[in-house]
Amino acid sequence: AYAIEIKDLKKRYDNGFEALKGVDLNVEQGDFFALLGPNGAGKSTTIGILCSLVNKSSGKVSIFGVDIDKDFAGAKKYLGVVPQEFNFNVFETVFNVVVTQAGFYGIPADVAEERAEKYLKQLDLWDKKDVQSRMLSGGMKRRLMIARALIHEPKVLILDEPTAGVDIELRRSMWEFIKGLNEGGTTIILTTHYLEEAEQLCRNIAIINSGEIVENTSVKALLKTL
Ligand code: ADP
Ligand code: ADP
Repeated sequence: AYAIEIKDLKKRYDNGFEALKGVDLNVEQGDFFALLGPNGAGKSTTIGILCSLVNKSSGKVSIFGVDIDKDFAGAKKYLGVVPQEFNFNVFETVFNVVVTQAGFYGIPADVAEERAEKYLKQLDLWDKKDVQSRMLSGGMKRRLMIARALIHEPKVLILDEPTAGVDIELRRSMWEFIKGLNEGGTTIILTTHYLEEAEQLCRNIAIINSGEIVENTSVKALLKTL
């Protein structure tokens, strides 16, 4: 099975706007995949549907062969998502933001605490573990979102515009970390509106524009055509 399989996905928002006009997209297991497109193209809508923050209008979405309409809980456990907006409880400590997430997946407290320590250390946030998350800088908050998304050790990590508001140096260390996850077997999907970002990091790429996939190829092949 593919990590992610999307067939003829359509989304019309309540105001009548058609944000996705029949998207087909397959992401292979172990891939480092970019969904590239300008602002308003439909990237966040696609991600929102994958993690069921947004209801689709029609189409089919499977995650590791599990249809999200049939078994969303089953599909969801494979996914870790880092949305664009910071959506953690800002009054919780950094450590608790990560550990609290484990409760949603029925992960025992001792396992959750071990993993929280591991990922906060890897993401260079361990010295902030007792600080209220509202005190963190933007780049630290982004890394906290990543640590939290990994608590259930998902097979797929989806990052929506992960480098928005992150300075260059931090970006580099964040990418090293994410590359390491990919080398460990985690499928990575990121959205971006920067071609260079997609080109430097990713293996395969789909370009979305006005709710339609206009290109779906390997990064290598794409660069040859430019
Ligand atoms: P991207 O992530 O590529 O910037 P989005 O998926 O956020 O694009 O948005 C795609 C289009 O759908 C945009 O034109 C946006 O304004 C519109 N849109 C997003 N959310 C809603 C909503 N809740 N209601 C109406 N239109 C929306
Ligand atoms: P759904 O059809 O999935 O229920 P809604 O149309 O109810 O989605 O909108 C979901 C959220 O997106 C709402 O909180 C709304 O305020 C926000 N939203 C509305 N219009 C836009 C837009 N053009 N771009 C981005 N977000 C929007």
